[in-house]
Amino acid sequence: MTEDHQKYDLIIAGAGMAGLSLLWQIRQAGLTDLQILLVDRDEKRSNDRTWSFWEDHPGPFEHLVYKHWSQVRVTNALGEALKIPLKSYQYKMIRGIDLYTFMEEQINQDPNTCRLVATIESTVWENETQFVKTDLGTFTADYLFDSTHRMPLTDPNAIHLFQHFLGYVIRTSEPVFDPTCPDLMNFHLPDAGDCRFIYILPFNETEALVEYTLFTDSLLEDEEYVKGLSSWIRDQLGVSEYAILEKEFGVIPMSDEPVAEFPYPGVIRIGTAGGYTSPATGYTFRATQKRLAQLVYSYMSTGRWKVDAPVRAPRFDFYASALLGVLSQRRIAASKVFWELYRRNPIGRIFRFLDGESSFREEALIMKSSPYGPFTAAGWQVMINRMRRNWPGIRGES
Ligand SMILES: Cc1cc2nc3c(=O)[nH]c(=O)nc-3n(C[C@H](O)[C@H](O)[C@H](O)COP(=O)(O)OP(=O)(O)OC[C@H]3O[C@@H](n4cnc5c(N)ncnc54)[C@H](O)[C@@H]3O)c2cc1C
Repeated sequence: MTEDHQKYDLIIAGAGMAGLSLLWQIRQAGLTDLQILLVDRDEKRSNDRTWSFWEDHPGPFEHLVYKHWSQVRVTNALGEALKIPLKSYQYKMIRGIDLYTFMEEQINQDPNTCRLVATIESTVWENETQFVKTDLGTFTADYLFDSTHRMPLTDPNAIHLFQHFLGYVIRTSEPVFDPTCPDLMNFHLPDAGDCRFIYILPFNETEALVEYTLFTDSLLEDEEYVKGLSSWIRDQLGVSEYAILEKEFGVIPMSDEPVAEFPYPGVIRIGTAGGYTSPATGYTFRATQKRLAQLVYSYMSTGRWKVDAPVRAPRFDFYASALLGVLSQRRIAASKVFWELYRRNPIGRIFRFLDGESSFREEALIMKSSPYGPFTAAGWQVMINRMRRNWPGIRGES
């Protein structure tokens, strides 16, 4: 077992999207002297995911944007499509491997960052010091940024759904994709009574990432994703022969279980572990860049790795919980909920709402455009769940 006696300023647990973004933002802010240990059990050498997000300004990884689009499409269960110009926004995509490779090059030139490929076994805070025990030894620091913690998803008073998907990057022999327009949600597929849709990021007329995506409370058997995706490509896209260039499988928690971003002194959870994932959409990339910028700014201006305001204003958590309730109660087809949202609201309002940046007026207009009955029922259920969580004595269940 290697014992390292150097005490770092920070240990970043997990060199995935949040860990690498934090390192980049710290160095970009000019904090070049901080001694940082970055630990991940994986070398991060494969293109294991792509991150897409909307943005109306250049982000910290703008130079890594692989493709961007200025319109998106939403299609309902009947096959009616809305092509939506994004106006001041762009829908952007960054490939995992490009971020990993870029940051590896940065770390190689950074004398104050040490990268360790090791599995973290436990972390302890003692005598004002973080102890991070790995299979290669124990390391210490003043602060631990942890992106490896997994949400337990056991709160009985929370709604737990998953966004789960299988995606193929395919190449067809005939031009079948519109390279100017990704499909954000295409519900034109056989109705299974739950929320499932196709998501397409087109790279050119013959190449695209096509994903079979579900928002449900349990995962499918592996072959069901394969069947759903390949049937859609054959029946709706009308393509029987294609090459699969890459595969991507993902499970993202969509849960309103409370997350402790600052669980112990000196510990800051980041990324999905810190509750940055939007419970309503599963999008995480942009919220991560925004929150990490706030943390770095706070450290530079106050010396504290802490932001007092929560990741999202509490009312946005309530809206997200209500949407999760609507999706889990299935009183109305999910395709109708999203179709009405996109059909009856300008895109800027929707994006600001989903980003937790809308005004009360915009939120009232979004609510007005949503199916009233199912959202009211779900809203009541969310309030009851919250009362039960806060006052366990009033459970009222047998
Ligand atoms: C396939 C996929 C596609 C996605 N697409 C999008 C998208 O388009 N847009 C979007 O906004 N969000 C997307 N997400 C959601 C989210 O952005 C990603 O999951 C993102 O990678 C989360 O960043 P993170 O740093 O929290 O976690 P990760 O990137 O998963 O990083 C966590 C790291 O911790 C390491 N680790 C875990 N446990 C240990 C341990 N015990 N010891 C050492 N290392 C450990 C892992 O190896 C990993 O590298 C996607 C998620 C997936 C899975």
